[in-house]
Amino acid sequence: MKILDTAGVVNEMVSQKTVHANAMKPNYDVNFKCGCGEWHEARSTSYVLCGGINEFFFLCENNWITLVKFRGFFRVTPESRWSCTFVDFDTASNMM
Ligand SMILES: [Zn+2]
Repeated sequence: MKILDTAGVVNEMVSQKTVHANAMKPNYDVNFKCGCGEWHEARSTSYVLCGGINEFFFLCENNWITLVKFRGFFRVTPESRWSCTFVDFDTASNMM
């Protein structure tokens, strides 16, 4: 998983599909690796945006944003694609 700074987030977000957080729910009984160094349970962690199919921008209690893609159907595997602090994410959002 890449840890991004503000410029890195801007760079990723220009080509990243995003949809409103109401679009999908991460109702998975799996833990994903977060940029804060911990693992969080998908269904009990808040998220600020959805991405493409089964992609979520999680915001954990340590104020890290992690973009996670869930793959598989009967056996779901979370793939943490990149992460940044919420401050960097928020700053990047305001630059776009
Ligand atoms: Zn975290």
